[in-house]
Parts: sequence; structure tokens; C-alpha cells
Amino acid sequence: MSFGGVKSDPHVVLNETFGYDSFRDRQLDIIQTVLSGKDAMVLMPTGGGKSLCFQIPALCMEGTAIVVSPLIALMKDQVDALRQNGVPAAFINSSIDSREIDQIMTDARMGRIKMLYLAPERISDQFWRYLSNLNISLFAIDEAHCMSHWGHDFRPDYRALAVIKDKFKDIPVIALTATADKYTREDILEVLNIPNAEVFISSFNRPNIKYLVEPKRRSSDKLLTFLKTRKDKESGIIYCLSRKSTESLADLLNLNGYKALPYHAGLSADQRDSHQMLFQKDEVNIIVATIAFGMGIDKSNVRFVVHMDLPKNIESYYQETGRAGRDGEPSVALLFYTYADVLKLKQFVEIENNEEQSHLMLKKLDQMAAYGSSNSCRRQYLLNYFDEDAPAKCGNCDICLSSYEEKDVTTDAQILLSAVVRLKESFGMNYVIDVVTGSRSKKIRDAHTRIPTYGKGDHHPKKYWLKLCRYLLDDGYVDMTSGKFPILTVNGKSWAVLKGEQPVIISMRKTKEIEVRQESTDDSVKYPDLFKALKKVRTEIAVNKGLPSYIILSDASLRDLVNKMPRDYTQLQSVSGFGAYKVEQYGDFFLKVINEFIEENSIDPDKEKTATIVKPPKPRYVEKLTPTLLETYEMFVKNPDIGFIAETRGMSPATIENHITQLIYHQKIDIHELIDTSLILEIEEAINRTDTIWLKPIKEALPEHVTYAKIRWTMAAYEANNPK
Ligand code: ADP
Ligand code: ZN
Repeated sequence: MSFGGVKSDPHVVLNETFGYDSFRDRQLDIIQTVLSGKDAMVLMPTGGGKSLCFQIPALCMEGTAIVVSPLIALMKDQVDALRQNGVPAAFINSSIDSREIDQIMTDARMGRIKMLYLAPERISDQFWRYLSNLNISLFAIDEAHCMSHWGHDFRPDYRALAVIKDKFKDIPVIALTATADKYTREDILEVLNIPNAEVFISSFNRPNIKYLVEPKRRSSDKLLTFLKTRKDKESGIIYCLSRKSTESLADLLNLNGYKALPYHAGLSADQRDSHQMLFQKDEVNIIVATIAFGMGIDKSNVRFVVHMDLPKNIESYYQETGRAGRDGEPSVALLFYTYADVLKLKQFVEIENNEEQSHLMLKKLDQMAAYGSSNSCRRQYLLNYFDEDAPAKCGNCDICLSSYEEKDVTTDAQILLSAVVRLKESFGMNYVIDVVTGSRSKKIRDAHTRIPTYGKGDHHPKKYWLKLCRYLLDDGYVDMTSGKFPILTVNGKSWAVLKGEQPVIISMRKTKEIEVRQESTDDSVKYPDLFKALKKVRTEIAVNKGLPSYIILSDASLRDLVNKMPRDYTQLQSVSGFGAYKVEQYGDFFLKVINEFIEENSIDPDKEKTATIVKPPKPRYVEKLTPTLLETYEMFVKNPDIGFIAETRGMSPATIENHITQLIYHQKIDIHELIDTSLILEIEEAINRTDTIWLKPIKEALPEHVTYAKIRWTMAAYEANNPK
């Protein structure tokens, strides 16, 4: 497909080029702002759909759009994805040699490139001169927080962009980022010199991500349980604090049959690239990484992100978990939390000779810890952290999904608090608890064994007191100093408890540890078999093109294919992600699989649209035998070999099996020719026992060799003999 004239309507481009029906959220406002020649700044969470905000204006306008993006892998991904939609795009970064660059420059000058991606370090004086020869439609600055000192990922090269407005006064600039606090935002506008840019801030909520926090005990076992409930081919990232643990965990996963690779700064650049590439291409499903992993990756079908250790702050946690579910499909973020991690991290977050910065970092760590130990909705906590209002319950986090019971622990709280007071507010949590539980350890000073609270709490194990103490800390019933040797101190709320004015009620999860279980996405689709078959087609195309599968088509598109069951090109166009180019390039492959599936399973796609069918239903029967059924019948009489009939007729064996179902129902074929009487009885028994109209549970109740076809035949024979 060649790129024709200028398409001026954003809706048409959205539909024809990208295959989507409607704009999300503020996308259209943003696009129209840019189209009207104004500058814009866009803050949207990862996966929110930032790319379309500059790609669509670029396609609506004449000339070439210049897109600045800091990461080579990301750039290549976007350009590949654009080309898969028939958009002429190119990129220039350190992986491109000078001859290729010359070619790209020439193409751009001739108007043969609609979108040119650039790494910021490529921007030199010579480059600006070159750009002045182009007809530029707009400048898009992706990951714009990189230009700010305030951002967490400052890149000095980005500062070179400060001159854009001097050099190209009338060309709109759009800056985009997924993470920017107030200071970073102001900085971006200032550096780019776009004070009048229209600012678009989207909600940072990621509704498709389920947030789970699990106590970090036997965490590798729990991880394995968690993985067992996922589909084998699902992609996930597991973050660990140390290089060593990424290696050992990756080994453990491989031993357990998962394809996992480590990723950390100790590996050579080549190794890192190759591990990342294997992950991108779905050849490896799990990456076990330190935080060194992620910036360069734009994989949209990551289904889970696990943190084996506590991140240092909410910003990092949110960014890392945000790598899950960019395609909008249900995904999980699982954190293993223990207070011990907080203590361990304290040494790491402090910055030498910078008290102010250390203080800030410790505070951020405390806020991260509070997230882990919180008893209220995780999503609400996260959104509030980013200054966004949120309802008290999201319904999609471990807290909202668990049930609780309340327990009055006032007496125990009084014991603990009075120990803090008797110890003159001079000791840490462990020491106080040792005193409360009457520890015989030599650490305990003699004088302290004589205070009234010594041993008052020996009716509970130490673990209980630690938990209670953390709870009291979280709810402000006691305070703790910061620094390397934190000390427990009392406050007004503590005194209210001690005086009996304030009861302490804690709500405990009834389900002690929430099950790290989640319905896998493949199962939630109407026809898992069709989904699988379509996935296979996608993989074949991807391998053939040497591209990752999700660049060819997202999981969301596959799901939409299953839902809509298009049978021809026109219907295919209404499937999400199928723009004109993809329909033309790949339509046949997908349509073939769908049409076969429809035929083999005697599905009526028009009825399907309204039905809420989960598993293949009972067979449907034709009213009258058609010529093709009769032809199968003729052949069957001569030679009842299904494989042979299928081959001779050029049909799939499943189709012939379905024909036979119909022939049995119409009493042309006697089922006893196909199945032994004893097995027929066994199948009938299973049908009665499972008492369901779905085939799958019946199949599961029978020995493995009993195929779906045999079950359908038995049903057909039964219904033929027992008409309603
Ligand atoms: P971001 O850059 O903000 O992280 P992307 O631009 O990569 O997000 O978009 C995330 C996913 O959402 C992509 O698969 C993209 O094709 C899809 N998407 C974006 N806008 C729409 C839309 N209006 N309708 C359907 N899908 C969309
Ligand atoms: Zn919640």
C-alpha cells in the first residue's frame, strides 16, 4: 500500500490506519490542539495511548513529523508497528550507519517519510541545518521528563531540544510523558520554551492492573504457585533487588519448566540485548531482573509484574508495575512485602553528604512501606500518592477482594505501649518486644527484667507482637524515629490508649493469605480453542516477518476476533486493530482459521454475538441434510475412515466428524458403527452425571481417548432417539 494524499480527518485515520473505532479519553482534544498549530503537553500513564496523540496529527498533516525518543528499542518498536499499519516511518539512532542515514535523509526530503524518529544524541548543529530543508509537520518529544533535572531520568542530550522553538517558530511541539510531578512539568514547558502549551493531564489509574500484596514468607513457593495458575506462554517481569537473586530465581524457574532469563547490570551489553530481544519476541516468557530492566521495553502483552523485594519508592513501583498490561488486558502486579525489607533498604536510600536528599528518600521509602502494610485499597493509596482522588474501594486489589474480621487488641496494645514508656522511649522495636515477651536473652539489661511489663506479653509469640507493633505504627498509635537505629516513642494517641480512652481495633484478613490466583486471560475468552488457533497464526506471521508477535497484532485484537468472528474483509475491518493495511496483508490468514472454526463447530456467528457462551456448546443440528452431508454419507458407507474421507474431500477431519454428527442425528448413520456399546453407555453416564450443557466438563469426566466428536455423536444419537 502506498501512502496517498493527505487524510485530514483524525477519525478516518484512526479507523483506516490503526483500525480503532473511537478515541480514548482526551486523545481527540490533544490531536485537535496539535492540528490547530498549538503546542501541547500530555501526561498520560503508560499504556494510555500517547503515541496516537502525535501519530494521528502527523498523518493528517503534510510533511514529516520529527519524533524524539530516548530509547533505541522503543524507537524500533514504534517504527515497526507503524510500518505494520502501512505508515512510512524511519528512525535514526546509533544503530544506523551513515549510509543508511543519508538514504533516510533523502527519502525524508522527497516526502517519502511521514514520521522520523530520532535519538536526542543525534541532534547537532548540522542536524538542525538538515532539518531546515525538510517540510516538518510537528515535533513530538516522547518521555519528555528526561529533559528535567527533577525527573527521575534526566538525560542531558535532551537539553539540545531547547532551541526548537527558536528555529521552528510556527511548528507545533507536543511533549509527552508518563511520569511528571509539578516541578518536572514546569521544567518541561520552560526548557522547550512552550509556555502557552495546552496541558492535558489524564487519570493515572490503570484499571486493568490488579494490585496484590503478599507477606514475604516462602516467597519463591508462592511465586511458583502464582505462576502455575497462569498460562504457560504468558509474559511477565519479576524484579529482585540483587543480581545474585535474579540469577538464582531464573535458575529455579527454569528447573520448574519456565523459560526465564536474568537481566542485570552485571551482564555484558550483548547478553542484555539478547535476553531482552528473546523476551520481546516471546521466545522467553519471564525476565528476572534488577531495576536495570524496563526503560527500553515497550512490550504490550506483559501479563504480570512481580516484585520479590520492596522497591525504594512509589514512583519506581508504579513505573515498574505499569509495564504490565499496556494493551489494556487484565494483568497483575504482585508485591512480596516484609518490614525487614524496609530496614534493609534504609542503608541504600541514604545519599552521602546530602542530608536533605537523604531525608526525602527515607520519606519516600516510608511511604512505600506504608503501601505494603496498608489495610485499605491499594489503588486508592497509589492514586492519592499522585495527587489524584480515588474511591475508597476499587474492587481490583487484594484488599478490596478479601473479607475481614475485626478484633479488639486494646489490652495487648496497652502492654506494648507501657513497655515503650517504661523503657523511657529509648529502644527499638525488637528490644521492646523482647522485654514484653520476657526474653531471657543476655541483651536484655537486668534492670529491664524488673519493670512491670517484663514478660506480660508471653501469651503471644514474638511474631504476633511484631505484627501488632507494625499495625500500631501504621495507624499512628506509636511513633518511630528514622535513621539506622529507629526508636519507638509515644504520642498523644498512645496516651489515649494507655488511659483507656481509645480502643484499638484491628481488622484482620479472614483468608489468612490471599490466594495469588487469577483467572488467566486465555480462559476468559469465549472460544479458547479459536483464540489459540489465531495466536498460532499470529506467531507464524511474526516469525516470518522477524517481528515480535504483539507488533503484528495485540492480544486485545485477537480477543476481538474471537468475539466478532468476522467472516469476510468487511467484517474484519470492524475488528479492533485491523486497519486497511493489516486487513489486506494478513486478513486471509485469520479469516481462514475463523471460517474453518465456524464450520467445524457448526457455529452460527450471528447468534453468537448475543449469546454468552463460555465453552463449546452442544452440537446444533441442521434441519435437512444438505448435498455436502450426503456426499460424506456416500463415502462413509463405502469406507468409514474419517481421515480418508477428509483427505479425499479436501476438508479437515473435524469437519467430517461434524458431518457425521449430523448424519447420526438424522439417523442415516448408526452410532454403533463408530463406538462400542459399552463406551456409549459410559459417555451417556458422564453426560448425566455432569449435568451440563457444555462439553468440556463432560470431556474432563471421561478417559482421555474419548474425543469431543465421540461425545457429540453420542448426544446426537440420544437426541435422535429421544425427540423432545
Ligand atoms: P503509551 O505510549 O501511552 O504507553 P501506547 O501509545 O503504546 O501507550 O498505547 C497503548 C496501547 O493502546 C497500544 O496497543 C495502542 O495501539 C492502544 N490504543 C491507543 N489508543 C487507542 C484507541 N483509541 N483505541 C484502541 N486502542 C488504542
Ligand atoms: Zn482496591
